Amino acid sequence: MPLRRDHSDPLPLFVHLAEANGSTSPTHRPTRLGLAVIDYKEVSGILTKPKGFMAGYDFTINPYSGCAFGCAYCYAASFAPDERSADTWGRWVTVKENALDLLKRSRRDLRGKSVYISSVTDPYQPVEKQLELTRDILRELIHHQPRLVIQTRSPLVARDVDLFKQFEVAQVNMTVTTDSEDVRRAFEPGCPGNQQRLEAIAEVCAAGVQSCITMTPLLPVVDAEGFATRLLATGVKRFIVQPFHSKKGQFAAGTKDTATPLIEQYNWTGAGYIAVRDVLRRRLPQLGEGKDGFAPV
Ligand code: SF4
Repeated sequence: MPLRRDHSDPLPLFVHLAEANGSTSPTHRPTRLGLAVIDYKEVSGILTKPKGFMAGYDFTINPYSGCAFGCAYCYAASFAPDERSADTWGRWVTVKENALDLLKRSRRDLRGKSVYISSVTDPYQPVEKQLELTRDILRELIHHQPRLVIQTRSPLVARDVDLFKQFEVAQVNMTVTTDSEDVRRAFEPGCPGNQQRLEAIAEVCAAGVQSCITMTPLLPVVDAEGFATRLLATGVKRFIVQPFHSKKGQFAAGTKDTATPLIEQYNWTGAGYIAVRDVLRRRLPQLGEGKDGFAPV
C-alpha cells in the first residue's frame, strides 16, 4: 500500500494514514529509516519564540526533533534533550505527532508574522516523504499567511511548490555548502548530493517562489569560480554565506568534536573562506553574510 498521499486530500496526517491502512493502529508509521530510529511524541507547543541567531523571527516551527541528515557540523545537536541524544545525533528522529493539532488550536495571530521552518531540524528529512507532516503544517499556515522562510538541505522541498505559491510572502532557502562531493560526503554523509539540491532549488525558483541558496557554513571549495557559475545557473538571485565556527558560539560544543578534525584535514582556514567569499561577492548578485543574511523576508 502506498504511504504517499494525494496532495488534494484534506485529511490530517495520521487520520489519513490510519484509514488508508484499514486500522487505527500506528503500525504504519515507520520506526526506522536508514540508520535513524523514528519515534513519535506529543509535545506541549509547536510555535517557538526564538532567541539568539533566529531572534529576528517571531516564531520557529520544528515538526521533528533530531535530524537523520546528521551533518558533522550541526549546531542543533547541542540542543538535544540529553548527552546521549547529542552523541547519537543523526541516528534518531522524534515526530511531533500533535504538531498540526497544536497549530490548529493556537490562538496566535500569525498574519504577517515571520515564521522560520526549521531552526533545529530539517523539515524535509527522509521521514517527511512518508509522513508529510511539514506539508500538513504548511497547508494550515496558508490560512494564516505568515511571512514564511523554509530552510532545508533536501530536494524534497520541491514537492511543496504548490503550497509555497499560496503564501503572499514565502522564501525557500536551500543549503549547499561546497562544490565538492567528496567534501559533502565527509561533512554531510546523510544528506542528498549537491547537484540534486541545486536542481531542486532551480525548480522552486522557476516556479516563481522566492528562493535563496545558503552556504552555511561554507566548507572547502575546490573551484570558486566554477561554484559561482553553478549557483548562478539555478536562476536564484539571493545567497547567504557564513564561515565555519569550530569553537563555542553559534556552532556550539556538541558538534565541534566531529567537524573540527575534518576541517583540519581539509586545511580549511579563515583565509580560505575569505578567498572564496570574495569570489562569490564578485560573482553573485545579492550575497548576505552571517546573521544579517538570515533576516526575515
Ligand atoms: S540538515 Fe540541518 S538540522 Fe539536519 S543535521 Fe544537517 S545541519 Fe543539522
